[in-house]
Amino acid sequence: MSSNLARSYLLRAVADETSDALQEREQTSSTVSGPPTCSFCYGTGMEVVPGKGARRCQCRAADQKAKLFEAARIPRRYQECSLQNYHLAKDNSSQLQAFNYAFKLVRGYPAIDCGLLFMGTVGVGKTHLSVAILRGLIEKGVSCLFYEFGSLLKEIQNSYNAASQSSESEVLSGVFEAEVLVLDELGALKPTDWVRDTVMQIINTRYNDKKLTIFTTNYLDRRRSDREETLEERIGVRLRSRLYEMCQTIQVEGEDYRRRFDM
Ligand code: ADP
Repeated sequence: MSSNLARSYLLRAVADETSDALQEREQTSSTVSGPPTCSFCYGTGMEVVPGKGARRCQCRAADQKAKLFEAARIPRRYQECSLQNYHLAKDNSSQLQAFNYAFKLVRGYPAIDCGLLFMGTVGVGKTHLSVAILRGLIEKGVSCLFYEFGSLLKEIQNSYNAASQSSESEVLSGVFEAEVLVLDELGALKPTDWVRDTVMQIINTRYNDKKLTIFTTNYLDRRRSDREETLEERIGVRLRSRLYEMCQTIQVEGEDYRRRFDM
């Protein structure tokens, strides 16, 4: 046996690199000119750590995260949202509470069996926090999916149209299978029987499969004026009651964040 071959037989598995080390390595790699082949594993996906053994090259982990992020279908205008750039307004305990729930979910997953329902008026950062959770989970390698409630139902409805490319099962199977789903703006669509049945089917399937779902809604449990509808009125008693079972409700209060930029 040649000495090289003998050495390769002696390679042992070593732990993955830390993210700090990866950052340092990316800086080093970016100074190397030429084709974008990893200068550590040369495209093999495994790198040798002198004196220790072999491990999965971190360039593969970065690729995998980029793929998970793309597959999550996070709208472009929310793509930068993270827990780090969620700003807590002074003296707003509801925002602090919402942030803490989001943070704990990311830190504790997968040992978390209760989803979240962020409830509050427009612009208080419910979607921001939900996307921030997905970002944190994707960093942990979790498959996630984001859907705005109205678009999801439209896509499912379109699937009944013979001319459409997507099939109902394709749209729904993605929603059923994602480890963690964000359903944004629950109740935004006119509550027909079809809408209620479809949402109930999605939620029940995910609930039975013990999959985590995070909801946001602009509707509250208690109306603040006669003209306002409650969440229960929008989505029905059965669905609201199921949400009590599967989610922690967090009411977020505050000003519409976008108004900060009004002159
Ligand atoms: P909501 O879902 O409650 O209607 P969004 O999450 O869509 O509100 O927030 C509207 C915009 O304001 C987004 O661009 C979001 O990133 C930003 N935003 C809202 N709250 C905060 C916050 N506390 N810190 C940083 N950005 C925020």
